[in-house]
Amino acid sequence: MKTRLFQEGDKSRAICHQCKKIVETTLVRRTVPFSDGLGVVKDLLVDVCDVCDAVVATPAQSTPAIRDARRKAVESIEAQLPAIYLDVLDYAAYQVDLNNTTEFRKILMALYLHRYATGEYPAAELREACLGARKTYKEQRGAARRRLSLKVTARTAQNLKQLARDTDMSQSDVIRSIIYRIQADVLDARKPALMRELKLFSLIA
Ligand SMILES: [Zn+2]
Repeated sequence: MKTRLFQEGDKSRAICHQCKKIVETTLVRRTVPFSDGLGVVKDLLVDVCDVCDAVVATPAQSTPAIRDARRKAVESIEAQLPAIYLDVLDYAAYQVDLNNTTEFRKILMALYLHRYATGEYPAAELREACLGARKTYKEQRGAARRRLSLKVTARTAQNLKQLARDTDMSQSDVIRSIIYRIQADVLDARKPALMRELKLFSLIA
């Protein structure tokens, strides 16, 4: 069987959602942004509508290029924190499901960063949480510190930057505050709806 590879200029027919009908299409190379606006794929081979110029399809051979661009869009979140914060995060993961590993840190942090960034949880409470955290977990000189290092999507990294800006705190302090909130919600209050939700995340993670 011969694999058919498409090239620029190839003609085809497809449904255009803009024109709402079947149209003639042409393959072209174009820089295409991801639908979430975080990153682009350069010179991607796409099928465009001859009438309105909208991208109507992507040939299968473009998939590796999309995947690579997505992978590059992965960013890392880093913070040097007193070891107790990582204990809290890991113990919360363990309370959600005994089988959760440190991989679950990422899910907890991404979920909270998303909720605070979208306003589902009030970002204003983060400053107060930070004061609470620093009072509860005193940071003496020479206390053991550990590195929290998470590979996250560009969107999650963006949420952290946005929250740091909005609350006028450092990114490390936003992380402290969120871990302190996770302690209150998951370890102390064990909020039933949240626990169910997190349990579900640990099944699909
Ligand atoms: Zn069209």
